[in-house]
Amino acid sequence: MRTGLTVSEAQQAILAATPVLGAETVGTREALGRVLAEPVQSDRTLPPADCSAMDGYAVRRADLAGASEAAPIELALVFEVPAGGRAERSLEAGEAARIFTGAPVPPGADAVVRQEDTRADAGPGAHVRILVEPEPRDHIRDAGEDLLAGDRVLEAGTVLRPAQLGLLASLGRSVVAVHQRPRVAILSGGDELVEPDGDPSGGKIVSSNSYTLAAQCRELGAEPVYLGIARDDPGDIESHLRAGLRADCIVSSAGVSVGDHDHVRPVLEKLGCKLDFWGVLMKPGYPLAFGGFGDDPSDRRPLVFGLPGNPVSASVTFDQFVRPALRRMMGFRNVFRPTVRARLAEELTKKAGRLHFVRVTLERSDDGELVASSTGNQSSGVLTSLSLAQGLLVFPAEEDRLAAGASVVVQVLDEDAFGGRTPGF
Ligand code: AMP
Ligand code: MG
Repeated sequence: MRTGLTVSEAQQAILAATPVLGAETVGTREALGRVLAEPVQSDRTLPPADCSAMDGYAVRRADLAGASEAAPIELALVFEVPAGGRAERSLEAGEAARIFTGAPVPPGADAVVRQEDTRADAGPGAHVRILVEPEPRDHIRDAGEDLLAGDRVLEAGTVLRPAQLGLLASLGRSVVAVHQRPRVAILSGGDELVEPDGDPSGGKIVSSNSYTLAAQCRELGAEPVYLGIARDDPGDIESHLRAGLRADCIVSSAGVSVGDHDHVRPVLEKLGCKLDFWGVLMKPGYPLAFGGFGDDPSDRRPLVFGLPGNPVSASVTFDQFVRPALRRMMGFRNVFRPTVRARLAEELTKKAGRLHFVRVTLERSDDGELVASSTGNQSSGVLTSLSLAQGLLVFPAEEDRLAAGASVVVQVLDEDAFGGRTPGF
């Protein structure tokens, strides 16, 4: 088994073992954030006919040469085309039709004059005075200006945002094929652990990792299945793990290590899991194990992640390694978090050798630059400094010092970090 991998070697090994899941059909209303599993072609032209972009009057330009406020031209008001209606007949010379936004332009008309540029009399036999000379096709939306029947509208792999859902709806697609969501079995392990409603006296520790990790699954659209707390006992670990064998991914926090009481690894191996590597050159989170089942090197499901037990290590390693794998399963092409450049507020030092992920806040300075500041104690057990973090600063493995004011790379955890102020436009 390999050990001492760099973060990027570990990520590559994991993604190489991770398949994209198959398709399922879901209601378009429920498809927000999912990834399209098939290209979508339009079976219709939109708008289906030339239609009006304004409330006003459909006219023939030939009737209106020289029309102006001072010299209005009067047209006979012959019919009305409501939105959702259709024209009774063609427009003839000297005629206008009342028309509303979205209504089809009658044959014979070649422009729409806005209501504001007219004076109309009420009642039957009415006339309308036109105060402007329209340009060709003024205020007419051309048939097909949005899309044509047969157009490829969305590619497979498109992430469905609100605009895409609206587009699908406008094509009459009430259901859509998207990649499946992975099921993630989450196991906590340790004799010291109790559930949050349990009694933590006598040296017990509340198992917070299952909460953090399940929420991280949900946040990215995967489906967590909580397997509970396994005691530091091979039999108990085995019965808990068996319940997760049908998931796409098993995430165990604590116990996949080399300590005397770390029984998860032998139990996993007994169940048929082959571990690919153990130990990644990073902090927090060195003791990370990864493996999977089966003989297909490109689909080792259920993938198995043995995360370190310390709460920050568990969460950060999930973010760096489990999250990209789950996003790949869901069909996302961009599986990693976005990064930004920021100016470092204070000097940071460490020993060279491991990449550090430093918990930072991100603030926009008056000159518009982002400034990254440490959230405080960076110990791998200190969840408060993770809860304050808007990003993880990447302190490269080979560096031992980053100077105050240095330009640094920060992975964005919280995009609200940039959205707080009035944008000013
Ligand atoms: P271990 O990896 O078992 O050596 O655990 C490392 C540290 O993480 C210990 O202080 C554990 O008590 C703590 N820990 C392990 N599992 C959890 C959990 N599910 N929630 C919170 N802390 C945990
Ligand atoms: Mg333990």
